[in-house]
Amino acid sequence: MSKVVKFGGSSLASAEQFQKVGKIIQADPERRYVVPSAPGKRSKNDTKVTDMLYACYDLAEKDQDFGAVLDQIKARYQEIIDGLGLKLSLDKEFKTIQQRFSEKAGRDYAASRGEYLNGIVMADYLGFDFIDAATVIFFDEEGNFDGDTTDRILSEKLAECQRAVIPGFYGALPDGRIKTFSRGGSDVTGSIVAKAAKVDVYENWTDVSGFMIADPRIIANPAGIEVITYRELRELSYMGAGVLHEDAIFPVRQQGIPINIRNTNAPEDNGTWIVGSTCQKSKYVITGIAGKKGFCAINIEKDKMNSEIGFGRRVLQAFEENGISFEHVPSGIDTMTVFVHQDEFMHKEQKVVSAINRLTKPDTIDIESDLALIAVVGRGMKSTRGTAGRIFSALAHANVNVKMIDQGSSELNIIIGVENADFETAIKAIYDIFVLTAL
Ligand code: ASP
Repeated sequence: MSKVVKFGGSSLASAEQFQKVGKIIQADPERRYVVPSAPGKRSKNDTKVTDMLYACYDLAEKDQDFGAVLDQIKARYQEIIDGLGLKLSLDKEFKTIQQRFSEKAGRDYAASRGEYLNGIVMADYLGFDFIDAATVIFFDEEGNFDGDTTDRILSEKLAECQRAVIPGFYGALPDGRIKTFSRGGSDVTGSIVAKAAKVDVYENWTDVSGFMIADPRIIANPAGIEVITYRELRELSYMGAGVLHEDAIFPVRQQGIPINIRNTNAPEDNGTWIVGSTCQKSKYVITGIAGKKGFCAINIEKDKMNSEIGFGRRVLQAFEENGISFEHVPSGIDTMTVFVHQDEFMHKEQKVVSAINRLTKPDTIDIESDLALIAVVGRGMKSTRGTAGRIFSALAHANVNVKMIDQGSSELNIIIGVENADFETAIKAIYDIFVLTAL
């Protein structure tokens, strides 16, 4: 058995956190490949090293003096190095960084240094090999991740190393320039390394004990999720449940490697297992609830719409022509509603309305704004009768008016549209009925 372990920024924010990480790695010889993020926040008002690097590089790009900010960044690493009692010096590395910043090496190069330097410190601390991600993770000319080349070169390299540290977040373009993934991208690197090393588990260590059934900012101390499938997670992350980068599931999913989300500050907790499929029933009928505010509904009415072939396509064409993606399209006999993101739609509103008029000649178009969508997700819903009924009676009791209902054909999720103002009340009502009163 072998494992890839990825540690997020808060797990590596200080020497003290590094020591916790060291203990976790030493506790299990199967933890052979380590993917670190850059040092994150040490306290609520602290700044992540990645953000310091972006700010520093912005000065360099404007030909302003960036020396003081770079010194602050260096001090963050020095504090870790000293706290761990290491003899390592990053002087040469910082000289190179200063030089490359002056030459305007690019924002991605700048941001990537957070992980690069943290990888060097981590490898020194653990006595593991250091593999620069620029030599094993590749992007194509268009800047898209090149999975085939990466997999080939990375797996060869890993086979040569018994234990190694591979910094997260970045790789190289065909011309050698550095390119990063989007923010939080070390999760993606962890998944790519797990695939190439063909490990049994990808452990993703963060500062929470896995996923919660609902957002803790809305529900106080929500129950945790023990096991979730990739598909369920995709539904929940799409609706805003964050902990893991959205793209992190794809590489491991292809290989059926499970992801275990763990808490560096509570290593005894089992965390959440993300798996392809499972016979394990979730404790509750639902696995999770997530949602987002800020949607608009465009209601289109036309007599005898039902018999007009191509009507739906033409409505959607009006959105396509304006580069707007739609979320849901519930319809009646003579009505059709399109849900879109309000911020995407707002400034194109009149263009879309006139396109709908031109393309479909409707009787009326009516726009409702400030709506929220809530996804109730669970593999258990398929085999349980009455789930939708329970959701709607809970919402009715909480005085929440339901604007829209959409059950995915997989029966894995039910999406509910409510007013923004009812968002929190609705989530509480659903949580209560499925989790609190289910006990
Ligand atoms: N350090 C990068 C960020 O702050 C990448 C990561 O932590 O995954 O987004």
